[in-house]
Amino acid sequence: MPVYEYICRACGRRARLRMSFAEYDSATSVCPHCGRAELRRRVGRVAVARSEATRLDGLMDDPALDALDEDDPRAMGRMMRRMSDEMGEEMGQEFDEVVGRLESGESPASIEAAMPGLGDID
Ligand SMILES: [Zn+2]
Repeated sequence: MPVYEYICRACGRRARLRMSFAEYDSATSVCPHCGRAELRRRVGRVAVARSEATRLDGLMDDPALDALDEDDPRAMGRMMRRMSDEMGEEMGQEFDEVVGRLESGESPASIEAAMPGLGDID
């Protein structure tokens, strides 16, 4: 199952929750640290193809990512393209497809549903 990364608006801590796509659609996510339903999905999970997950963890700490609006796929796509450019490495076909879909305005949820296994880092 995919792992989704959240940040808690109440206590500011991060949480990684493992759930199916169906659960993700319907679940009210509760912070495992403070128990409040204030979790906000962190941008970037969709960007992380499984082989890149560990290497990208540092980039995910970029504060700009927390300010990024996940409801704006084009902004996400631009951010991911910039990250990729900064790393100066080939990110792979899966990454390119995700960025391309974002830049065309497709929502992250739709992309994840269309690309099974994406972000499943185990
Ligand atoms: Zn919390």
